[in-house]
Amino acid sequence: MTNQEIIAQADQVIIKTYGRYQVAFVRGQGSTVWDADGKAYTDFLSGLAVTVLGHCHPRVVEAITKQAQTLIHVSNFYHTVPQTEVATFLSEHAFGGKAFFCNSGAEANEAALKLARKYSHDHHGEERSEIITTTNSFHGRTLGTVAATGQEKVRKGFEPTMPGFTYVAYGDLAAMEQAMTEQTCAVLVEPIQGEGGIVVPPAGYLAGLRQMCDQRDVLLMFDEVQTGIGHTGYYFGYQHEGVVPDVMTLAKGLAGGMPIGVMMAKPHIAEALGPGTHGSTFGGNPVSCSAALAVLRTIEDEHLLDHVQEVGAYFLDGLRRLQKKYAFIAEVRGRGLMVAAELDRPGGHMVVKAMERGYLINCTVDRVLRFLPPLLIRRQEVDGLLTTLDAIFA
Ligand code: PLP
Repeated sequence: MTNQEIIAQADQVIIKTYGRYQVAFVRGQGSTVWDADGKAYTDFLSGLAVTVLGHCHPRVVEAITKQAQTLIHVSNFYHTVPQTEVATFLSEHAFGGKAFFCNSGAEANEAALKLARKYSHDHHGEERSEIITTTNSFHGRTLGTVAATGQEKVRKGFEPTMPGFTYVAYGDLAAMEQAMTEQTCAVLVEPIQGEGGIVVPPAGYLAGLRQMCDQRDVLLMFDEVQTGIGHTGYYFGYQHEGVVPDVMTLAKGLAGGMPIGVMMAKPHIAEALGPGTHGSTFGGNPVSCSAALAVLRTIEDEHLLDHVQEVGAYFLDGLRRLQKKYAFIAEVRGRGLMVAAELDRPGGHMVVKAMERGYLINCTVDRVLRFLPPLLIRRQEVDGLLTTLDAIFA
């Protein structure tokens, strides 16, 4: 089938919750994907921070294949090796936390919202159930997570939304302090706002939140769905500041493209979720968890975090050179390979121009060109994109 044939058929049968580009992908290898007409694209989006080892990485493919031939699914009434091993790896790298497995970022955040309320009800009574999040945040598309998301437009038309959320400006500690009341049970923030435009908070912001939460036994919860699994040059975004959360959510890159979500919580907090309080049929599926183990071990074995820091700095330097040349680039920012160029004008059409030239990039909040390449991206691929952007900007 050609691009056009696939698109024509899809238009008849798929609900248009996404505004899609006029292309259908059929194959991927490393940082390259091919469309149905045979055109190749270098992928600087990674399925939105998901295919962190690129497409069809041999270790991920092998892990999925072996596990699919061994055991595809059992109920969470039983234990499995892959789920236990992913939880062990994450616990060893993230504050000795305990894991709850699910299938997506929104579900991981739902688990965090439920845990926050349950922990607070158990320890402080039922009045204490409010959660503070930040404006321009993004936490998912379920009813609970749209209520948590600090953007009016994601809730519009779906009211009444779940009560109990307050939104304060991101990066503003004074606003957070003012918003905290006797009813506050948790704060949920992204260590870097992803959908909000790769917004890096001021130094000391996460530490300030930690201090405020500690003073009140309010849970500090980091949504690491986009920042987690290496994209910022550390396993988790919070590690840049050395500020440890009580609860952390992960999804996207964890299994390199297989559906997975996980909420990590400090053990004494995790105790609030006992048998029967929460669950997920597919959560921690053996095939997804085997893929996750392959991703995590490859990052470790191949020292990919060092590579991300090195190539990320190179990428940012290149974008800053373009910024000197083009006055309409208002700001270049990011950490590791979570990188953005904010324009002083809409940038959506530049995504289409980049596709025409064989590059997948993204534009968020209308004016921010966003780049989330696979962790394995090489300098020459970055050079290729920078040359292409230069031509588009010119
Ligand atoms: N949280 C953050 C920070 C995200 O960036 C996203 C997705 O973009 C989500 C949550 C929702 O994840 P999912 O689409 O897997 O439900």
